[in-house]
Amino acid sequence: MTSHVSLSKFGFVSIFPEMISALTQWGVTGRALRDGRFTIDTIDPRDFATDKHGTVDDRPYGGGPGMVMKATIMAQAVEQAKRQVGLNAPVIAMSPQGQCVNEHLLTSLLGQDALIFVAGRYEGFDERFVSQHVDLELSVGDIVVSGGEMPAMMVMDSLIRRIPGVLGAELSAEQDSFVDGLLDCPHYTRPEIFEGEAVPAVLLSGDHARIAEWRTAQSLRRTLDRRPDLLSEADLSEKQRRLLARWDSVSDDI
Ligand code: SAH
Repeated sequence: MTSHVSLSKFGFVSIFPEMISALTQWGVTGRALRDGRFTIDTIDPRDFATDKHGTVDDRPYGGGPGMVMKATIMAQAVEQAKRQVGLNAPVIAMSPQGQCVNEHLLTSLLGQDALIFVAGRYEGFDERFVSQHVDLELSVGDIVVSGGEMPAMMVMDSLIRRIPGVLGAELSAEQDSFVDGLLDCPHYTRPEIFEGEAVPAVLLSGDHARIAEWRTAQSLRRTLDRRPDLLSEADLSEKQRRLLARWDSVSDDI
């Protein structure tokens, strides 16, 4: 799946801006930052607090436990982020109540020049901040974590690896799970035999056409076994459809 990628600027609004180092210092995303393939501006809502304690939260109207992130302060932080990364940048708030992320949804964001990610803490945001200043709420799954920083970084990481030139071997993003609508094939490296289990012989054959065919079949088989829900959306070739039909009638392994 190829799509035009314009994305190169991120805003990260968080009361723990240092957490971004997990993305900016290590691995593929760290190297991509050093290579200048993207930029990240961090904005700390505490800079917009009006008291000397840097308070960004307050008690919920109606009572109950937990604190709520103030709309006034979050709005100012997001406006600052827009001034820094782009006035038209879509604002994405991380929330367990948002749309669940998937590769298809992320692909649709790659055409933007800049994106602003907002991490919640405590019980989350005052709802009026969301209704007035947020374009999209994203969830990383049906779980609740303590803050939006890690969810936002997961999404940013996934977007960054889709920026051309970020992954060493240009092909490996294309081969990843979900990109073509299927799960990735299994991978092996040395030694040839590990705890009595040998590498599938075809991978040692040197026959590139057969290897490619085996990998495609494995991808398909894995998807059928583990995530059959993906198959209805996948863009399958005629050959893949025939394979699937065969497995449907004979449920043996390949
Ligand atoms: N009371 C809220 C949860 C607050 S958790 C609710 O039940 O909806 C605190 C913050 O962590 C949230 O504001 C959000 O930014 C982040 N967060 C928690 N779980 C998340 C998830 N599954 N996906 C994205 N962000 C999440």
